[in-house]
Amino acid sequence: MCGIVGYLGSKQAYPILISGLRRLEYRGYDSAGVALIDGDVLRIHKCQGKVSDLEAHVNGHPATGTLGIGHTRWATHGPPNDVNAHPHQATSGDLALIHNGIIENYAPIKEELLQRGHVFRSDTDTEVLVHLIDDIQRAEGVELGEAVRLALTNVVGAYAIVVIDRKDPDTMVAARRSSPLVIGIGESEGEYFLASDATPIVEHTRNVVYMEDGEIAIINRRSGLRLRTMKNQEKTPFIHELEMHLEALEKGGYDHFMLREI
Ligand code: GLU
Repeated sequence: MCGIVGYLGSKQAYPILISGLRRLEYRGYDSAGVALIDGDVLRIHKCQGKVSDLEAHVNGHPATGTLGIGHTRWATHGPPNDVNAHPHQATSGDLALIHNGIIENYAPIKEELLQRGHVFRSDTDTEVLVHLIDDIQRAEGVELGEAVRLALTNVVGAYAIVVIDRKDPDTMVAARRSSPLVIGIGESEGEYFLASDATPIVEHTRNVVYMEDGEIAIINRRSGLRLRTMKNQEKTPFIHELEMHLEALEKGGYDHFMLREI
């Protein structure tokens, strides 16, 4: 279970995602990637290796946009390589999704989607989820948050996911079951952060919402944060104030957190 970072606001997302992914490096990982939406353009950069390899890979290519998601992968389904790195996309190319965890029933879902003409690129369980969301979005004509909710009612497993949609550059949708996800409420209007723990968020804001199991967060620049259950009930976000300080997160000159602890 590795790292997730997300940003929606008025600043450029890429540097925020990269520094967030660096803060999550202590969890261990084998590949890294980002997806950015700038206007109606969705760009994905991903590769096997470290966050520094990702930066080298992106160097010289456009990485603009004020909405973005970033991921560090610890491979469970499919070897560590560029194609299996997250974010993943569906056939239409509108959605980008990152996932920590395991989709246990990915095989029967994949079989059904293959029969309906979906083309898969990676070996991951994760890619099945983005195709399923895309399929439901098209078939039902529903907005992204509802498509994610409907898709997850078919899914068995552990996950923290974040999805963005090229057709809706103002929205980021997240969901979790048995894998942590924290939302940061930015200091400026319409600014939000997402991460698999608070370490990438604390330098930006102290106000966080810890998502609970079975919750879906629909985060929009204008309408703000809405939380729903898998059964489609509205929930009121509970905002915690973080007491963690940035210095406590730094490694204090040591190469590893464990060395500092010793
Ligand atoms: N099961 C997914 C994969 O193998 C996600 C692994 C993770 O948590 O990083 O790509």
